[in-house]
Amino acid sequence: MSTIGIDLGGTKIKAGIIGKNGEIGQTIQVMTPIELGRDGIMSALSFVIDRLLETLPTAADGNVSIRAIGIGSAGRVHRETGTITFATDNLPGWTGTKVKELLERKHGFPVFVENDVKAAALGESWLGAAREWRHFAFIALGTGIGGALVYGGNVISGPNDGPEIGHIMLHPGGAACNCGQNGCLEQYVSGKALNRVAREVDVLWDSRKLIRMFVEKDARATNVMRKFIHDLCAGLITIQNAFDPQTIVLGGGVMDSYPFWQEHFITALHAATSVDIRVIPALLGNDAGMLGAAKLAWNEIVARDGSSLDVW
Ligand SMILES: [Zn+2]
Repeated sequence: MSTIGIDLGGTKIKAGIIGKNGEIGQTIQVMTPIELGRDGIMSALSFVIDRLLETLPTAADGNVSIRAIGIGSAGRVHRETGTITFATDNLPGWTGTKVKELLERKHGFPVFVENDVKAAALGESWLGAAREWRHFAFIALGTGIGGALVYGGNVISGPNDGPEIGHIMLHPGGAACNCGQNGCLEQYVSGKALNRVAREVDVLWDSRKLIRMFVEKDARATNVMRKFIHDLCAGLITIQNAFDPQTIVLGGGVMDSYPFWQEHFITALHAATSVDIRVIPALLGNDAGMLGAAKLAWNEIVARDGSSLDVW
């Protein structure tokens, strides 16, 4: 028995056949055809599902070994209906799409949809950095910033399908954010923000160059990274104080450079607060969303059937 886990992002769609213990079977990755809008994205989802199903041995009555499909999608997702309540221009036309309804009708499997960062948190909880923790925050420092809170092993969703951790206000009156506020966390510690501040130092710099120059102890890069670390600490301390997680798991592309600034960050974090705060890097990388989406599907099936996975 397996589920299909799909991670739908603004750049690519990654999907795989996932066993009940997280075994990764066949996987597929395609570019997200954002230029084709909603219909194109739906077609791409159906394409990856069909390709994965083709790899399975079929019984006379169909692909019986897949129990359900889980999808982690960028944007705000209403989990009960599997509808996208809001998506930015990263997924044009995606707002309002009834993903669950459309895919169930087309493919005949139960489909469950969750926000991509919440799905990644579920993945880290299942198989990654947060396996030992029941209460944790997962913060994805990607192009933007996403976040999820897991309490008692469950991913929390509010009445507006939040929380929106990237839009915690860090510097009131600060940089304008696409959410309409000023000074959001996302404007200071995301990949996009790092690229922006790197360019402010030198128009030829990007975040990679910034990190390289930081490693070489360039004074300008050190100054910029000190501010980045200061802001990241402030955001994480706010999250710690507000939600009291056992640990905060940091993922996303910005964390690729973590070994180069980890020591400075940990020192600054503990200098900035006496609150007991534990921060650890995510472990699953680009697989977190796909695995978490598969876990979402497993969880929903167990909840619906009232059965234990062990009997399969
Ligand atoms: Zn914002």
